[in-house]
Amino acid sequence: MITTTGLTKRFQQNEVLTNIDLHVDAKDIVVLLGPSGSGKSTLLRCLNGLEELTGGQIEVNGIVVNSADPLRVQRARVLEIRRQTGMVFQQFNLYPHKTVLGNVMEGLVTVKKIKRDEAAERGRILLDRVGLSDKQDAYPSRLSGGQQQRVAIARALAMEPEVMLFDEPTSALDPELVGEVLSVMKELAEEGMTMLVVTHELKFARNVANKIVFMADGSIVEEASPQAFFEQPKQERTRRFLQQIT
Ligand code: ADP
Ligand code: MG
Repeated sequence: MITTTGLTKRFQQNEVLTNIDLHVDAKDIVVLLGPSGSGKSTLLRCLNGLEELTGGQIEVNGIVVNSADPLRVQRARVLEIRRQTGMVFQQFNLYPHKTVLGNVMEGLVTVKKIKRDEAAERGRILLDRVGLSDKQDAYPSRLSGGQQQRVAIARALAMEPEVMLFDEPTSALDPELVGEVLSVMKELAEEGMTMLVVTHELKFARNVANKIVFMADGSIVEEASPQAFFEQPKQERTRRFLQQIT
């Protein structure tokens, strides 16, 4: 579903991603771990077309963006990729002046050109799925952070993505609200969604992921099953990281 080949990203002279070869199969739940500044967000942003590639190639669901292609070709392909990927950020980025249902419907109406009443119907089904049926008419500012993030997930799912990218979806939440968001993500995983998740929630990584990718300093250091990763890390850099966080 996702393949990056020799993906490199520089900001001016600063190389933030070096030769990343990442592979995510359909229905994989890949958790991306790594210290702050290791390039995790940049990698997700490259996959979602929020950053231009410096070198190498990404492929998402058969759509290829190669850094050697003309920029206009890259940009057209990136738009196709973006239509097939849902992204959830640490900050929920909901529209404050729209209701919960309005937020979930927005992309259906403006991007997918679906009629408002059908979009509302689909929106209500998605809100039910994330446990927020009773909040459809509320404005985001009246919701808890956990509820807002569940709306953001519903909004991303409304676009019927092939892949979901999560960038620290629970890092901005009070500890008691983390569980409700993780359990929505776990259900999504159980339903067979392909997911690439940056998180520091090790329990989620252990119990829900089928693969852990560990990054440091812009490179992939180690990839393994959760069990092998946490119990028998091969690289010294991985062991040091695990000692710091556990
Ligand atoms: P992580 O998500 O793993 O904490 P990031 O991908 O956010 O790491 O950042 C990796 C490196 O890239 C950091 O050194 C950061 O300062 C740098 N970086 C990220 N975005 C930009 C940008 N837009 N311009 C310049 N440097 C950036
Ligand atoms: Mg980050």
